Amino acid sequence: MRHFNYKNGELYAENVPVREIAEKVGTPTYVYSAATLQHHFKALQAALGDLNVKIAFAVKSNTNSAVIATLAALGAGADTVSEGEIRRAIRAGVAPEKIVFSGVGKTVRELEYAVSQNIHQINIESIQELETLSEVATRLGKIQKIVFRVNPDVAAGGHDKISTGKKTSKFGISKERAFELYARAETLNGVEPVGLAVHIGSQIIDLAPLKQAYEFLAQMVKDLRANGHKVSRLDLGGGLAAIYQEEIEGPDLIAWGKIVRAIIHPLDVEIEIEPGRIITANAGILLARSIVTKENGGRDFVVLDAAMNDLVRPAFYEAYHQLLAVKEPVKGTNKMPTTIVGPICETGDTFAVDRLMEPVAPDELVAFMSAGAYGFSMASNYNSRPLAAEVMVNGDKWEIVRPRQTYDEIFGMEKIPDWK
Ligand SMILES: *Cc1c(COP(=O)(O)O)cnc(C)c1O
Repeated sequence: MRHFNYKNGELYAENVPVREIAEKVGTPTYVYSAATLQHHFKALQAALGDLNVKIAFAVKSNTNSAVIATLAALGAGADTVSEGEIRRAIRAGVAPEKIVFSGVGKTVRELEYAVSQNIHQINIESIQELETLSEVATRLGKIQKIVFRVNPDVAAGGHDKISTGKKTSKFGISKERAFELYARAETLNGVEPVGLAVHIGSQIIDLAPLKQAYEFLAQMVKDLRANGHKVSRLDLGGGLAAIYQEEIEGPDLIAWGKIVRAIIHPLDVEIEIEPGRIITANAGILLARSIVTKENGGRDFVVLDAAMNDLVRPAFYEAYHQLLAVKEPVKGTNKMPTTIVGPICETGDTFAVDRLMEPVAPDELVAFMSAGAYGFSMASNYNSRPLAAEVMVNGDKWEIVRPRQTYDEIFGMEKIPDWK
């Protein structure tokens, strides 16, 4: 489901022609649809029915404050992986008691900040982290609720770089170690162990590995309780896939909801999830303009003004993004194999190779679809290119929610030492 469609021969975001945005704001520009964000958030809620599940939006998938605020208004919390993300979430209006802090390497400073804000939960991934947090929280006179991120040893996800649940991955702790640490945490000051967390990967379509991970959690809860430990909370992580290609079906959310109900609900625990991409991916597009077209060695290239620094997923994960012309192609136009690239000095700066599509002319507006997750949030200044502008559309209104970066903002703070 997305609210980017052709109307009157051109691409609209909700009720706004994206050409209007490109003309006023320039390109490359990310455009987000508030209605699509809301739709996906509510679809997750609907799949869970009357189960009481806390949804902590994974901020790293789309960090824009307007996106976070749109979801927070629907009751979303935030799943964060750095001090910066915690700060962002609070600034965007997420109550600290709805913030989860995840991540494999949290610094002392980050732990201090998180604890001082009285956040909902910190997900612990090592014994050292447990001990450091205990010291930090004790020093601050706080008791921090924690869960242990366990590694169920199941592989899942759309690409090796986003599979996180294997035994040898850097994430989480083993089952055996989790039992030890749970007991240890109960003896420590400043921390209160309340449960367990998993997050096995991203872009998960097949529900079998998720089910396996949930069964693993359920067994651990029973074993922990049998040993006299209190377990009142389970964090099921994120990872549900977004639809990037209409021909490939996404995860069956209703079936997923039933799995949560069957396996987790009977344990009588607070349930949390940390979805990112399934909410944000289809809620954003990246608008770009073609600079030149050229032919090399029999291959037709279109060079865009967007590049891998704006949208790195194709270069980094071999990811597919549908590319649409903003002006709707005339029906029956011959499609040509076209290679879509950015202007950066790397062959890796390629969005699609020999993609069958209607010819793109120079100076034509195009849109990468499903670019709302891990798009702007992974952007960089490589090649001294300014970060793209971000716009949010809501019905027939639209607003710049982050202006294009200026050159002064890129390198104005740099200093040339005057070695004397
Ligand atoms: C990245 C991440 C998520 C979100 O993953 P999606 O695939 O975007 O849903 C959730 N939890 C943790 C711990 C993560 O690292």
